[in-house]
Amino acid sequence: MICRLCPRNCRAERDENGGRGFCGLPSLAKVARIAPHMWEEPPISGKNGSGAVFFSGCTLRCVFCQNYEISALNRGRTINSKQLSEEFRRLESEGVHNINLVSPTPYVHCITEALDLYRPDIPIVYNSSGYEKVETLKALEGYVDIYLPDLKYSDNALALEYSRAKDYVETTIAAIGEMLRQTGKAELDEDGIMKKGTIIRHLVLPNHTKNSIGVLDIIKERFPDTPVSLMGQYTPHGDIKKYPKLQRKITAREYNKVKNYLFESGLDGFVQELSSADEKYIPDWDY
Ligand code: SF4
Repeated sequence: MICRLCPRNCRAERDENGGRGFCGLPSLAKVARIAPHMWEEPPISGKNGSGAVFFSGCTLRCVFCQNYEISALNRGRTINSKQLSEEFRRLESEGVHNINLVSPTPYVHCITEALDLYRPDIPIVYNSSGYEKVETLKALEGYVDIYLPDLKYSDNALALEYSRAKDYVETTIAAIGEMLRQTGKAELDEDGIMKKGTIIRHLVLPNHTKNSIGVLDIIKERFPDTPVSLMGQYTPHGDIKKYPKLQRKITAREYNKVKNYLFESGLDGFVQELSSADEKYIPDWDY
């Protein structure tokens, strides 16, 4: 395939053995872990867990990625669409609340093929960096029930520095707009489990509360009815040697500042505990 799936628009060749694009990924789906996952937001993980499929590689590749081993080093193994559909069936039979596709963007063609082979009777979650092409998202209409996009940056200079994406802000705003067009407002069942909708996630970075406040301002202005998930789990990890500001966890003072701004803004959503900032919460990449 000649790939233009994400905003990098590489037009690079990808085949079963590898790829020459920014992500370096093959055309077959590469997977690092498939298992029930308990650490998403309560309406996603619920009591039984979310059926997470952690795909290898990433189209954004932030230097601080908490899943660096799979997002930048592309650790994992390839499976075909039939095998992927069987994994969806297996996860569903384990009683999870949804199928949670984590960093799925480079494999949209494999995912739609797998879902054409077997469509689980539970919601499909598309869990991404937010840096998406509207055109690719449109191809997912009818396949995806819940979107979990990040909105990482309100400042393209920061997006360029940490993620080499100088158009991150406007690209992600357009992508979230398309996600909301497809899902509409969040819908929960009687047990509080999400059936449909979009939740915007934001990870607070150390020394960057201004960026976080800018992100909340964007959400308030553009997507005021969309729940926000504020995450304080940042742990120094990844390829951050050259980035002095990223060398520590966030402080309680930083987190409280962003949390208070969120509460004052009147936005709805979820706030993670700071105690989640620990490498023990990084899963084993054992697929
Ligand atoms: S998915 Fe990979 S190869 Fe395709 S456009 Fe994006 S970065 Fe380039």
